[in-house]
Amino acid sequence: MHIIDRIYIDGAFVKPTGDQWAPLFNPATEEQIGTVRLADAVDANRAVAAAKRAFPAFSHTTKEERIDMLNRLYAAVSARTDDLTCAMREEYGAPSCFIDFSAPRAGTVFLDMARTLKDYEFRRRAGSADVEMRPSGVAVAITPWNSNYSFICGKLSAAIAAGATMVIKPSEMSALQTQVITECLHAAGLSNGIFNIVTGYGNVVGAALTTHPDVSKITFTGSTATGRSIVQAAAPTMKRVTMELGGKSPSIILDDADLDIAIPQVLAAGFRNSGQACIAGTRILTPQSRFGEIEERLSHAVRRFRAGNPADEQVQVGPMVSQKQWDRVQSYIRLGQEEGARLLAGGEGRPEGLHRGWFVQPTIFTGVRNDMRIAREEIFGPVLSLISYHDEADAISIANDTEYGLQAHVFSSDIERAKRIANQIEAGRVFINDAPHDPLAPFGGFKQSGFGREFGVFGLEAFLEPRAVLS
Ligand code: NAD
Repeated sequence: MHIIDRIYIDGAFVKPTGDQWAPLFNPATEEQIGTVRLADAVDANRAVAAAKRAFPAFSHTTKEERIDMLNRLYAAVSARTDDLTCAMREEYGAPSCFIDFSAPRAGTVFLDMARTLKDYEFRRRAGSADVEMRPSGVAVAITPWNSNYSFICGKLSAAIAAGATMVIKPSEMSALQTQVITECLHAAGLSNGIFNIVTGYGNVVGAALTTHPDVSKITFTGSTATGRSIVQAAAPTMKRVTMELGGKSPSIILDDADLDIAIPQVLAAGFRNSGQACIAGTRILTPQSRFGEIEERLSHAVRRFRAGNPADEQVQVGPMVSQKQWDRVQSYIRLGQEEGARLLAGGEGRPEGLHRGWFVQPTIFTGVRNDMRIAREEIFGPVLSLISYHDEADAISIANDTEYGLQAHVFSSDIERAKRIANQIEAGRVFINDAPHDPLAPFGGFKQSGFGREFGVFGLEAFLEPRAVLS
């Protein structure tokens, strides 16, 4: 049983003044595996005070000093990849195909940001003015449960590069992963107060941080509903905000697509992180002329997406994070049938042979119309919708007919055609065929998927304010 009873303030692991405890579960077994003592508003205020004290000295460190810190953070986090993997598997149930990408990347984001920082000019001329990019002050990072340490490391790397100090409030459901990543970050030996980590409830610690007058910047990853309330809380004190929110991303298969490439990619994008991914490609847009063929290929290929014990290397879909999330996903599978969509694969209940654990059958609905709720709302589970279109213009119109705009995929054997379509998609990132992730490319959403961008220069500048001096 893990007992987590410390938060991290001013360079030290300290007991919170908050005395509420929350249980931690292994979602693959439904067993309680630990308990976490949560921070409260007093702890939040102490963390902000520590970050505020650290800011003047830290904001004046040189680029070389900050590159050195980023390199040390990389080394400290990378040294514990195995522990991060174990914590994520035990507490979150992520399958190997996700952890193998996410655990090593927790460290490499610091190197990617060091690379960006090396080439970044903090001073430049604009007309007759000397412009200096200054760190924004004390920043707050609020992160969700679905990729705990990636979000913590991604946001912290940009703050460190900019010279901003930070208070991080991770989800209370990821306390075990937070404990390991905090130990890693502490081992990098940064000066006290540069980063502080306070695990607690959103309506307690989150609310205290987002209204605190000494906080000037909030970077949030989570649901669009919570994002809305944070923007409102931040408005009276005019905090700068970066919002990474939900998605309902389209995967557009063009009529000339090579299905040997497209089908596995479409399913990997849809079932990414067991479907608990903001970027998941949950709407599969299919040309009417090849609908039957694509349906058949999908129903065959989906059998390779096994749900089950995340420790099993063959498993590609792990459990949902909680009973609540399992119930929510089941309710959408029922809703899809009530709305008149047909099950091509999966359905309600656990996968065959699994009697415990919050497992969901990898599910594909066919005959979905884009106005059905299963095609419009973020389900956050392995549930995909197959939607047919007539021609290119129809595909683009359906792809953009959503309140979200985080990511999209286009599959075609004609790269110029795919790019032409990509340029008409209202989404922060569009992948063509099997293009890999690029850590320097901006990440973030159009429309209600949020605003602001992370990674590379775009992520760095989210923590900077230009000051112009005219003489
Ligand atoms: P959530 O919005 O419920 O919670 C996210 C974080 O916000 C948690 O730490 C929570 O404690 C905190 N919070 C809740 N209420 C708050 C308040 N009033 N004030 C301040 N903080 C508050 O999201 P979740 O369920 O943890 O994560 C799933 C959601 O996150 C999905 O909608 C998913 O799409 C989204 N997400 C987006 C991205 C992205 O990069 N765009 C990435 C991952 C997840």
